[in-house]
Amino acid sequence: MSFMITDCCTACDACRLVCPTNAVSKGSPIYKIDGDTCNDCADVMGGPRCIPSCPEAGAIIFKPKA
Ligand code: SF4
Ligand code: SF4
Repeated sequence: MSFMITDCCTACDACRLVCPTNAVSKGSPIYKIDGDTCNDCADVMGGPRCIPSCPEAGAIIFKPKA
């Protein structure tokens, strides 16, 4: 499993700052989540950090790994 960032992203940087695995990086223009590095925050309490940090609805969505 992983999460991905959509065109709704406004590049506010919030998700990158809270990601415990450094899976989020600046893109051009929207941010990106590295599916191999994202572990769904499975190793930390409280579930995915990026989604509640994001101010834009629909900018971070669940994406099953292929
Ligand atoms: S789910 Fe967790 S590990 Fe994955 S991108 Fe979001 S904050 Fe980072
Ligand atoms: S928190 Fe949301 S709007 Fe901000 S950079 Fe991440 S995906 Fe984009």
